[in-house]
Amino acid sequence: MLRSSLSAFAARFSLPGLALAGLVYLIAPPPAARAWGNGGHRLVNKLAASTLPGSVPEFLRSEAAINEIEYLGPEPDRWRSPGEPELNAAQAPEHFIDLEPADALGPLPRHRLDFEAKVFASGQRPEKIGLQPWEATEVWERLKAALREYRALQTAHQDTRGVEAAALFYAGWLGHYVGDASQPLHTTIQYNGWVGSNPNGYTTDHQIHWQFEGPFVDTNLHEPEVRAKMTEPKAIEGDIFDNYVAYLRETRTHVERVYQLEKAGGFVGAGTPESREFTAERLAAGASMLRDMIYAAWLESAKPVADPYAGK
Ligand SMILES: [Zn+2]
Repeated sequence: MLRSSLSAFAARFSLPGLALAGLVYLIAPPPAARAWGNGGHRLVNKLAASTLPGSVPEFLRSEAAINEIEYLGPEPDRWRSPGEPELNAAQAPEHFIDLEPADALGPLPRHRLDFEAKVFASGQRPEKIGLQPWEATEVWERLKAALREYRALQTAHQDTRGVEAAALFYAGWLGHYVGDASQPLHTTIQYNGWVGSNPNGYTTDHQIHWQFEGPFVDTNLHEPEVRAKMTEPKAIEGDIFDNYVAYLRETRTHVERVYQLEKAGGFVGAGTPESREFTAERLAAGASMLRDMIYAAWLESAKPVADPYAGK
């Protein structure tokens, strides 16, 4: 999801910027109100849900589940309306992280509030740097908690329909951020036009983000070529936050490639074979990671949690 929508623009450029952006918005609503475009997010979520291992409960893999998870792919982009300004302001930073300024503050803390405290202490604002890995981790933990509840209700032979609906929502919601994090321009200060030293003459126009993730994807990328590039399902080993940050860092290695492809006309019209292949790989990386994170939530939900009140 592009940040040059109203709230992010305002966040980066303060109040005069807000007034200006508001004016521009009234004249010409940005096409950028979608991430990976609707199409890209739906594709990532659909492919993840439809390739879950057979050991994951059927309620997450059924046709109805796949349809619901697919629908939820763009869900957090539906929270960007000026009709819900408080929600928009709070959640807009959760779609991205600029790893350069984040890393400049030292190792990424595991807890959102610890990161925010570091950012404030440095005289900066969290909404300008982004909160991607914390949001993704927290939503994943919601999913895991719901699946633990599902297991408990099932063991007790109680109705699981309520918790199934909750888990489906969390899985679909999670998919949005995992999808965003496969888009290289969601991980960098180079998010929409090259900044700083530019010996290779990459575009500095504020167009590349939406050019890459928007209509180009909707028009040129389809399920079969993305599915073909997905990895085999695997159980994520080790800590989910560390795995997720590693995934974001891998995504960031592709930032310059986006600019190279743009320079070669890769995101205009049908693009080029290279740009279509690259974009299919990025969407497939998102779908594979989402599938593996849902699978990990299921596996981890079986682990007993120590009672914090035991012995007290
Ligand atoms: Zn987004």
